[in-house]
Amino acid sequence: MSPYRNEHVAISRPVAGSAGHTGAWRVFKPVVNRENCNGCGICALYCPDAVIGEDLVIDLAFCKGCGICANECPKKAIAMVREEK
Ligand code: SF4
Ligand code: SF4
Repeated sequence: MSPYRNEHVAISRPVAGSAGHTGAWRVFKPVVNRENCNGCGICALYCPDAVIGEDLVIDLAFCKGCGICANECPKKAIAMVREEK
């Protein structure tokens, strides 16, 4: 039996990080292609800011545009798209 059986993955929701909202400095933002997505949830697990909801809606107010979600997605269903200023 796994020693982690009764433990839960720590997932927090951003409220106001030390840097607050992301603001206008982000260069790329993630866009999910739902036709390619299999709903595995890996992107949400790896997002360091925990801004990907269960419905795969990404809270862009806090997303830092790091691209980790796109890099970890096994279906390559997330594209990092340049922000329009
Ligand atoms: S780009 Fe980074 S911060 Fe934004 S949703 Fe993906 S993993 Fe999270
Ligand atoms: S990691 Fe990719 S395939 Fe999995 S839920 Fe996220 S976008 Fe969909």
